Formats: sequence, structure tokens, C-alpha cells
Amino acid sequence: MRSYDIVEYGEPLQAVDRPTPAPQGTEVLLRTLAAGVCHSDLHIWDGYYDIGGGKHFSLRERGLVPPITLGHEITGEVVACGPEAGGVKPGDRRVIYPWIGCGTCAVCRRGDEHLCNRPRSLGIYRPGGFADHVLVPHPRYLLELAGLAPEEAAPFACSGLTAFSALRRVGEAVYRNQPVLVLGAGGVGLMGVALLKALGAHGVVVADIDPKKREAALAGGAMAAIDAGAADAVKQAQTAAQAPIGAAIDFVGASVTARLGIDAIARGGKYVIVGLFGGDITLALPFLPIRAITIEGSFVGSLGEFQALMALVKEGKVPKVPLESRPLDAAEAALRDLKAGRIVGRAVLRP
Ligand SMILES: [Zn+2]
Ligand SMILES: [Zn+2]
Repeated sequence: MRSYDIVEYGEPLQAVDRPTPAPQGTEVLLRTLAAGVCHSDLHIWDGYYDIGGGKHFSLRERGLVPPITLGHEITGEVVACGPEAGGVKPGDRRVIYPWIGCGTCAVCRRGDEHLCNRPRSLGIYRPGGFADHVLVPHPRYLLELAGLAPEEAAPFACSGLTAFSALRRVGEAVYRNQPVLVLGAGGVGLMGVALLKALGAHGVVVADIDPKKREAALAGGAMAAIDAGAADAVKQAQTAAQAPIGAAIDFVGASVTARLGIDAIARGGKYVIVGLFGGDITLALPFLPIRAITIEGSFVGSLGEFQALMALVKEGKVPKVPLESRPLDAAEAALRDLKAGRIVGRAVLRP
């Protein structure tokens, strides 16, 4: 098999050939059909997160040491199953749930494998989809494509799931009755707008600094799109929403978007932060109780949420987001284009 690996943080990806693994026990081997390119791949490639004040959070110090095969939005065709892997057979096409935990701790057992402290996530801690084959530890992580083409289904494993899980944090009672502010209209933000619309949201205002992305958001069903970088962005968002903003979902996670989201929500509102752009903010503490606001972090989503999302997709309720198809051997160029903001929607690699 061939993969395109990070052999050293920040260095060019390298093509690596190695023997294709034979699945053992409950393992399933798939031939990659499509692999989405995600912003978090950029952070892993860098090897750190910006935590503000000029400080970095090092992934190596956290125990993530190259080589790393990126790619956590994967669809594949089953090639071989271990002797204890039931429910799938060679030729089956599946989208992979990549946020795999240890499977045995209390967090995993309550269904939150994505929050496990001993993660085995594909494309991070285990080899991912920037490769022609992927090994999955158990068939329960394999979901049907819900009537989609492989490249359409792949982005639901992170981009779609992240957006869906964030909406769950906001809650139906809020998004059905109050406007929601979506910060950032990249791949995940556009998916968030699409899902909100599919779930009967009252209305979505989008804030982005890029006019092209604001246009994409309007085309995707946002009621308004404002410039996140404007000096009066809070006022613009509140005016465009035409009613108190019940929640803000920050798909960027930068100081400026956090400030905007927290300042724009109404009393009792919720600010959900998803994006990992990085930075920091200062909060006046009395305003937390006085405004009774909630600040909540949301990281990808659970296997249960992924199953619920794919059921929604199967019902045809989720509009498609723009995709850009690239060959697998152009993985690094796709990462560079994503970093430079040259991709609208989602880039998907195809071997
Ligand atoms: Zn991702
Ligand atoms: Zn666990």
C-alpha cells in the first residue's frame, strides 16, 4: 500500500510504500475511495496549536509523534475482514467513523469515544485516508453511504459530524425559535448552515471576512451574511438577525470571532466554539452571570451522533456542499490550498 505521510512536522509529505496489512480479529481492511482534507490536518501538519500570547501547544509533547498518515474523512470499499469482523463483506462501500477511543474506559462506554483520553483516531493516532488502504479496528465504525457517492459521504465523518454535534449543543428549542449566528463559512461552516436549514432552523446569519465565502453562505440558505472583520460586526449581526440571537457557533475559533460570537448573543444565549484557528480572549467575568451566557467547546461528535446524521442524510434532508476533487498524490497541494484559503467547500482526495 502507498500513503502520503508526515515524516516530520512542517516538512513536505512523503510517499511511503509498505506491505498492505492483513486484518486480524475484528479488523476490517478497506480500499480508500475518497478522503476529505480538513483544517485540523493543517494543525497536525504544523505540529502545534496556537494558544494565544505567542504560545504554542505542541502535539509532539502530547505524544503525537510522526510518521502520521493524515485523513479522517474516509470512505472505502471493504477488501478483507478479520475472522471476528461480522456484518460487512468484501465489496461493501462504507463511510468510516474515525473518532475511535480505547473502547473500554467510562467515557467510551457511555458512547463518547471521541472524548477518550487514550484516542485511536484514524488520521491522527492511527493511519488515515491519505493512503490507498485503511485498516479499521471494528466493523461498528463502518456506516452505509446513505445513497451518496463516496466523495460526497466522506466529509460527513468530520466536517458534517462536527457541525451536527455543535447544533446538538445549541439545541432544537433554540435553533428552531431564534436566529443562530454562524461564524466562518468554510467547509464546516457551510455544512452547519446546510444542516440548520435541513433541521428547520428559524434563521441563520453568517459572518465571514471573505466575500466569496459570504456569497457561498447566502447561496446555501443563510438569511444574511456580514463581514466578521467590520468594526460594527456585532451590531450588523444583531440587526441582520431581526431578533435576539439564541446562539453563536464559531467554526473559526479565532480571537476576533470568539469576541463577536460572545458579544452578539442575547441574554441566556450560548456560544459554541468548534474551530481551532487559535488565539485567546479576555472576558469580563460579571457579564457571564449577568447575561447568563454559556460558553461551550465542541469536538467532532460521537458515533451515535454520526449514525443520527447519516440517517438524516439518507432521508435526503441534507443539501450537498460544494466539493473539489483532487488526486491522492496531490495531497500536499490540497493542504497548501486549504491553508491559503483557496478552497470553497471541501477538498476530497481520490486515489
Ligand atoms: Zn476534520
Ligand atoms: Zn476510552
